[in-house]
Amino acid sequence: MNPPVPDSSAQDQPIYVTQPQLAPLAEFIPYLEQIWENKILTNGGPFHQQFEQALCDYLGVEHLSLFANGTLGLVTALQALRITGEVITTPYSFVATAHSLLWNGIKPVFVDIEPQTLNLDPAKIESAITPQTTAILPVHCYGQACDVAAIQKIADNYNLKVIYDAAHAFGVPADGGSLLSHGDLSVLSFHATKTFNTFEGGAIVCPDAKTKQRIDHLKNFGFVDEVTVVAAGINGKMSEVNAAFGLLQLKHIDAALARRREIAALYCRLLADVRGIRCLPACDSERSNHTYFPILVGPEFPIGRDALFQKFRDRNIFVRRYFHPLISDFPMYRGLQSAQAGNLPVARNASARVLCLPIFPGLKDEDVLRIAAIITEC
Ligand SMILES: *Cc1c(COP(=O)(O)O)cnc(C)c1O
Repeated sequence: MNPPVPDSSAQDQPIYVTQPQLAPLAEFIPYLEQIWENKILTNGGPFHQQFEQALCDYLGVEHLSLFANGTLGLVTALQALRITGEVITTPYSFVATAHSLLWNGIKPVFVDIEPQTLNLDPAKIESAITPQTTAILPVHCYGQACDVAAIQKIADNYNLKVIYDAAHAFGVPADGGSLLSHGDLSVLSFHATKTFNTFEGGAIVCPDAKTKQRIDHLKNFGFVDEVTVVAAGINGKMSEVNAAFGLLQLKHIDAALARRREIAALYCRLLADVRGIRCLPACDSERSNHTYFPILVGPEFPIGRDALFQKFRDRNIFVRRYFHPLISDFPMYRGLQSAQAGNLPVARNASARVLCLPIFPGLKDEDVLRIAAIITEC
C-alpha cells in the first residue's frame, strides 16, 4: 500500500479549531532561571503568589486560588461550599462540569438551555428544584455570560449556592464589575485549548479571604499547618513553572483577545446572510471573549451539520461539534431521570446543529475567508 501523498500546498495545511497561544520562548527563560536559582518548585512559591495577585488585578476580582487544572477547581469548589444532594446543571457543556459532581457523590440534575445563548435556562430551573437541591452549577458557555441576575434570584429564593463553571469565561467584559464575581464561586480553566492558558491550570475566584483560605487548604491535602489536617483535601496545587508561565502569558493576553474579536467580527460579516446558518448573539459583540466561534446549521441549509463537518474534514479543516454528544448522553449520566429523551429538547437540537469554527489569534484573515467560503459555496 502506498502512503498518502503529502500535499504541501497552503490550501491543505491542516487548520485546527484552536491553536494554543504561547508567549515567545526567549521571554520565558529568565523565569525558569529564577526557579532553578531558588529551587522552589511548588507549594505556593513566589511565582504562585505573584500570579494570583496579577490575575486578581487583571480580572478585577478580590481573591482567587490557583489550581493545577480547572477540573480540580470544580471538584474543590463544591467541597469548599459543602455541597451535597442534588445540583442543577446544564447538559450542554464539556463533560468535566458534571464529572465534578460525581466525584463528590452529588446527583446532577440536567436542566435545558436557552435557544439564544445556549446557557442554562433560568425559566426552567425552578421546576427541577427538590428538597435535595443545594446548588446550581451553570456554565458561561462559549464565553457568553449566563443570565446571572435571574439565576441569583432563584438561588436566593430557594437558599441555593451558585458555582459558575467559568472555564470559557476568562476576560469576558461585563457591566458593573467582573462576571467572575457573580454567584458564590467561579471556576476558571487555563488548559492549553482555552483563551488564556498555562499549559494546564485553573483557578477558583472567591468572594473573601476566609473562603480562599479554606480552598487553599483543600487544594493542599487539607493541611492547615505542619501537623494539622482538617479535611480530605486533594493535591490541586499549581506548580511554579505553570505560575511563572501564566505571569508571562498575561502580558500577551490583551493582544490575543483583540485578535479573536477581529476574527469573530469577520466571520459574522461573512456568514450574516447565509440562509440556514445562525451565529450566536455575542458573536461579534464586546460581550464575549471569542474563545469559540459556534454556528448552528439549520434545516434551511442545503446540507446537514454532519455533511458540512465532513466537508471541512475533507479539506483538512478540523471544526468541532462542541457540545455533541450532550453530557447527559454519556453512560454514567444517561440513566438519570433528567437525562431522558424529551427532557432537554433545546440542548438536543443545538447539539445536533452546532459546529465550532477555527478561531485563535494566529488564524489569518485569508483562512477565515476560506473557511467561510466552504459554507457559502454550499
Ligand atoms: C475545559 C473545561 C473544563 C475543564 O478544565 P480543565 O482545566 O481542562 O480541567 C471544565 N468545564 C468546561 C466547560 C471546560 O470547557
